[in-house]
Amino acid sequence: MNTPVQVLVTGATGRTGSLVVQKLQQRKEQFIVRGFARSRQKVEQLFGTTEGFYFGDIRDPATLAPALVGCQGLVILTSAIPQPKGIPQPGQRPELTFATGEMPEAIDYQGQINQIDTALSAGVNHIVLVGSMGGTDENHPLNRIGNGNILIWKRKAEQYLIDSGTDYTIIRAGGLQDQPGGKRELLVGKNDTMLKNPPNGIPTSIPREDVAEVVVQALLEPNARNKTFDVISQPEDASGAVITKDFAALFAQTTPGF
Ligand code: NAP
Repeated sequence: MNTPVQVLVTGATGRTGSLVVQKLQQRKEQFIVRGFARSRQKVEQLFGTTEGFYFGDIRDPATLAPALVGCQGLVILTSAIPQPKGIPQPGQRPELTFATGEMPEAIDYQGQINQIDTALSAGVNHIVLVGSMGGTDENHPLNRIGNGNILIWKRKAEQYLIDSGTDYTIIRAGGLQDQPGGKRELLVGKNDTMLKNPPNGIPTSIPREDVAEVVVQALLEPNARNKTFDVISQPEDASGAVITKDFAALFAQTTPGF
């Protein structure tokens, strides 16, 4: 039997990160999982214990270092989080912005660089990074939130990871849904081809649970190493769709490089 791989998941209290932690915890023979979070209270609420969790802030590499000692794998699931700016007028949507000091440049770029550099110093040999589709369009509406250019900074961090020389898997997800996973056919592409030309006109979205499973499978399947890809799902009831179970075959459709 192989020794379990020690993996740190950052953004462990996030909506996708917490699912990845849970999925890795269920595969005790394959993984020893650690979580990295900034809120003890959230970890206790989500997991009922703080055992196996490290606390800190990705803007402070000194807090990342202890969490990565002895790890072979790192899953990056942190992200700057848009929040409402003030109270909206009745009937209007709230304008979104980022908290002071938590702009995408600080979180999605420098914060990710801190994670990559600290992981490499600790001897991590595979980094899985979850990013977002849409980044080929500088004018994408998400870039306008708080003038944060979030997708641009995410892509700069992706390039940094590729250039770092370690094994990587970059998963650029479509719109994330809180729906059950394991019920849909997953589709992969690259550099927003599916956004520009959605297959059969389907929504370019995917359940968070399916993204979490892609992360787990990327840690397991050699075919996912040094690949960058977009991923969406067919609707659950799409005719002719085949629920994705063979992840080696899915990763075989993906390609290396940016
Ligand atoms: P999420 O729930 O927003 O989680 C983000 C995580 O980052 C949270 O756990 C947050 O901690 C953590 N974080 C933020 N700043 C931090 C800091 N300074 N130090 C430590 N941790 C920090 O994420 P999600 O919605 O599951 O999205 C996962 C990824 O997919 C993100 O990169 C997102 O941009 C991307 N994506 C999203 C969509 C979408 O439709 N929303 C579409 C495609 C891709 P706290 O829990 O303490 O706040």
